[in-house]
Amino acid sequence: MLRKTFLILLMSLVAIGFSFAQESSEIKWVTVNDIAASLEGKDPMSVGFDVDDTVLFSSPGFYYGQQKYSPASHDFLKQESFWEELNNGLDVYSIPKESARKIIEMHKKRGDTIFFITARPQTKTEKVTEILAKVFSLKNPQPVIFTGFKKGENHKVKPILENKIQIYYGDSDGDIEAALEAKIRGIRIIRAGNSTHKPLPKNGALGEEVVVNSAY
Ligand SMILES: [Mg+2]
Repeated sequence: MLRKTFLILLMSLVAIGFSFAQESSEIKWVTVNDIAASLEGKDPMSVGFDVDDTVLFSSPGFYYGQQKYSPASHDFLKQESFWEELNNGLDVYSIPKESARKIIEMHKKRGDTIFFITARPQTKTEKVTEILAKVFSLKNPQPVIFTGFKKGENHKVKPILENKIQIYYGDSDGDIEAALEAKIRGIRIIRAGNSTHKPLPKNGALGEEVVVNSAY
């Protein structure tokens, strides 16, 4: 009896130790230089970025929207008026992420075409393209692609394929899943710990590369 208990305990400890080792060693951390090196000698290509928590820390606009439209719930996310307001200027309060800036600069230097694909719903008008162009100094920016969202559907695959995007950066599992589904390279940008978008995803969970120090 005692021996059996001891064996079970020992096996559990080995299993826990193994899973810890797996978790820490299996994340494929990459720096911007690593990404640049991996693209050396390759022709200019199209690359894509998610917007919220990938290139912009946009929680201020979401926090404001929740206070205004549904302080006690997430119902504001279902209100058209919130998205109209968010897409038409609240991003002046969004903080561009330093990590994204470095990655965008690297792609600009290569002559790559930069796309932004967001799950924010399409609104009648939008200022996101203009704001992103300004904060990341983009000449002739591609208009931001707004896919909208529905539970259980990934709307980012189609624009990735249509625009022949070869690398897609994002903070959410859905971003990496879209890249995997489109059979392209998906690279994780870390969502900042103080983002209003909770729970935080598990970086590297899908076997993807994760950019070091990309929470800000
Ligand atoms: Mg995001």
